[in-house]
This record gives sequence, C-alpha cells and structure tokens, in this order.
Amino acid sequence: MHQDSPTITFASLNLAAPLLRALVEKAYTHPSPIQAKAIPPLLEGRDLIGCAQTGTGKTAAFALPILQRLAARPQPFAARRPRALILTPTRELAAQIGENIAFYGRHLSLRHTVIFGGVGENPQIRALAAGVEIVVATPGRLLDLMERGFVALDRVEIFVLDEADRMLDMGFAPDVKRIIARLPARRQSLLFSATMPEAIRELANRLLRDPVRVDVAPTATTVDKVEQRVCHVQRGDKHRLLVHTLRQHPEELVLVFARTKHGANRIADNLDRDGIQAVAIHGNKSQGARQRALEDFRTGRTRVLVATDIAARGIDVKGIALVVNFDIPEEPEAYVHRIGRTARMGAKGLAYSFCDPSEHSSWRDILRLIRQSVPVHADHPFAANAASALPAETPRPMNAPANPARRSGGFWRTNRPPRQGYGSFQGRSLSGRRG
Ligand code: AMP
Repeated sequence: MHQDSPTITFASLNLAAPLLRALVEKAYTHPSPIQAKAIPPLLEGRDLIGCAQTGTGKTAAFALPILQRLAARPQPFAARRPRALILTPTRELAAQIGENIAFYGRHLSLRHTVIFGGVGENPQIRALAAGVEIVVATPGRLLDLMERGFVALDRVEIFVLDEADRMLDMGFAPDVKRIIARLPARRQSLLFSATMPEAIRELANRLLRDPVRVDVAPTATTVDKVEQRVCHVQRGDKHRLLVHTLRQHPEELVLVFARTKHGANRIADNLDRDGIQAVAIHGNKSQGARQRALEDFRTGRTRVLVATDIAARGIDVKGIALVVNFDIPEEPEAYVHRIGRTARMGAKGLAYSFCDPSEHSSWRDILRLIRQSVPVHADHPFAANAASALPAETPRPMNAPANPARRSGGFWRTNRPPRQGYGSFQGRSLSGRRG
C-alpha cells in the first residue's frame, strides 16, 4: 500500500489520456510522493523548487507536466527555438531524461533532442534545425551552440534546472547564469536540488517567482539500496582498517572518501606503500590528471579511488561495489551523496563508515537525517580498541548481529518513524532502476 494516500492515482492528478496510457505501459501504478506533490501545481503553471535527488521519481514529476502543457497549446513550427529547456549537469542524466521524455511522450507528437558535449555536434545541430519543442542539455555544449546561433531560448516557456547543487559543484555556475540570462522573462521555472545550501537559495530567488516548495527525503530510495555499516575505530587504526577492508574485497572497485585534499593524498600514498594501487582525485589536481585518474578507475586499472566530496560529485562510474567513508562527513547530506556513488544502475552497494570517537556527533547527525539505524560492523581487528571509547548509551558492538534487519535494533536508533519512500511500489518496479 502507498503509505501516503493510497487513493492518489496518476489520473487523479489530472494528467491527460495520452500520458496516462504511457504510464500504464511503463507499469507505474502510483505516483511517487514528489510526483503527487509536484504535478498538480506544475500543471497550473506554477514555479517550483524541489528538494529531491535522483531516485525519487523527479524526472517524471517535471517531464509529465511539461509534455502536457506543451501539447495543450500547440504552436507553429519554429526551427532552433525550443519551448522547453531542461538543463542537467551530466551526459548520463541528460540521456536518461531524454529517454524518459521519449517514453512518456510516445502518444503525443512533441519532438525533443538531447544536447551534450564529448560527441559530434552535427546530429544535434541538425535536430535543432529540424525543430524540437523540448531540449535536454548540459550547459557547456548548449552555450556553445547558442553562441553560434544554432539555438535560441527566446521562445522557452518552461525551464528546468536539474541537480542545481551538483551543477554548481561542477563549476557550471557561470554557464548556468549566462543561459538563464537568455531566457524570456515570462516563463515557468523549476529548480531541483538534493541539498539547499545558501548559493542554491540565492539562485532560486533569482530564478523563481512565488514557487511551490516540495521536499522529498532521500532515505527510502538511494539510501535503502545501499547496505550500510559503521565501524567504530580509533583514528590511529583507520589506515590499517582500510587495508583490512580492501583485502576483504579484493576484486572490487572501491571509492574512499576523505574530508580534505591533503587527507585524500595521504590515504592514497599510504595505500600505495602497502601495495594497494590507489589514486587521489580532488580539486588541486589538473583537469587532465583528474580525467586520467577517472579513466583508470573506470577501466579497473586502478581499483581504489580516494576522493573529496566536491571531486566525487562529478564522478559517474558504474560498478562501484564499495564506498568507504574514511572520514565521517561533517555535512550530513554529503553522506547521502557519497553512498549514492555505489548501488547505481540497480546494483547492490555496500558502504562502510569509519567512525572515530571525535566523529560520533557527526555520525549521529547523519543517522538523524537518514532516519535509519546503521548496523555496527564489529568483525574487524580494531573493534576492541575502539569499544572502550564508545559513548555510554551505545550498545557494545562486540556481539552485534552480523546482518541485523534494517531499521530494527541497531546503533543510535532514531525514535522517529522512517521517512516515507516510494510506498507501494518500493522493491517492485523500482528495484531495477538506475541510481
Ligand atoms: P528519477 O528520480 O526520475 O531518476 O526516477 C528514478 C526511477 O524511478 C526511474 O527508473 C523511473 O523510471 C522510476 N519511477 C519514476 N516514477 C515512478 C513511479 N511512479 N512508479 C514506479 N517507478 C517510477
């Protein structure tokens, strides 16, 4: 049963018949929470700010209303002047959004195209010249084509800024601003972001008019697909615990997170010294060095990548089996981003967090955010050393069950009920989804 309101259906959100048909064909039975909350105001033409990340169903939440609104008011053909623009940070996301639009819009006659860098531009230029209503784009290539006159934004009725926080972290702020400056004043605007730091709030203030705000917790989606463990450990034992952990996962791609650039370098150097090939990636490295490191990781030539939070935001590597939080992030949201690097494309993922006594309060903040307990992994050589430093209220981890049921018992269990996820379709159609 859908936990929120079992009676909400796509039809009750006032979606038109061609879209309902496509949704049946896609085998979606009920709207996800963000869809239920966002679709009605979007159909009315309202602006929207959505605090939600990939995995919540946000693509359909904006794609369905866009399709419906454009189809409701057909316009004469205009080459190179799309009516809707969706800006997203990565190629992978752009391609996925494009596929979703194609599917949801299969019974309508709207045209769309996807524009991103790293591939030949001619097919994109041709598609724009042939005329498309909807453009899905990454900022760099779009700006390039705009400046050369292959696309104009003066007819855009609906604008979506997707994954805004990631966009800024990847250094797209100047590009995004230039693109926004070319949009007509009269338009509907949507902004989605997994986190809402000050810079995003400022951007939202400039971009949106009287927006509806929709929040969707990340918990039951990304976080639930990742098997999480916390290892209590003294700081001085962390390196040896990392080596121990990596040796227990000898075949797998592992992403290790450090809080600082310096820390990332040190971890990679120490691993190298212990015969485990590792490379650090962070903002101090040149673009070329970062790209090489990523390519080596992607192809498995280096199996351990050590990253800072910012550097990791741009990483879209499939097949990361294990994420290790060598340091507990101070920003609880960063934890969700970090562990979301594993369990992509429907794969199962594992995340270990190394928590030393000075990090207990940060760890507590994370548990409060995700509203889950995370089982203690005490089956490691350094657990006994750490046990003496655990806070008084903490159950001793020494006899923690090897695989306790999620959300039952465990460490620093929160008293609040878990936040709602996908409800009725959790574990069904969503289980094979991408991350
Ligand atoms: P998104 O957050 O948009 O990337 O969507 C995450 C995944 O959930 C995608 O694979 C979608 O196809 C799927 N999805 C979106 N909405 C629904 C729904 N209402 N029912 C089932 N699956 C959905």
